[in-house]
Amino acid sequence: MNYCPNCGTKITKNQDFCLGCGKALKNNYSLPNSNIETSDDLKIFYAIISLFFPIVGAIMYYLFKKTNLEIAKTCNMFSWLGFLIMFLLIFWWLPFIFVK
Ligand SMILES: [Zn+2]
Repeated sequence: MNYCPNCGTKITKNQDFCLGCGKALKNNYSLPNSNIETSDDLKIFYAIISLFFPIVGAIMYYLFKKTNLEIAKTCNMFSWLGFLIMFLLIFWWLPFIFVK
C-alpha cells in the first residue's frame, strides 16, 4: 500500500491523482526535471566550498548533475574559479620562492 507524499492518504498504484488532496501522483515520479526550489543559502554554501576546495566542487558537480542542476552549475562555476585563483597564487609566489 502506498501513501500520498503530500497528505498521507492511501493510494493505489494506478491512481493518477490523490483522492485526499488532488495532487498529481504519476507526474511526480516520471518528471526528472521537476523544478526543485533551491535556496540561496544552500547555493552560497556550495559556492564557498567549491571556491576553497575546487576538487570537492568538481566531485559535487558530478554528484548533483542528475539531481539538482542549479547546485551542479554553481559547484562547476566556483570550482573553476577556485582552480584559477589557486594557479594565480602559485604562479605569483613561485618567482619569489626561487629568488630567495
Ligand atoms: Zn494527497
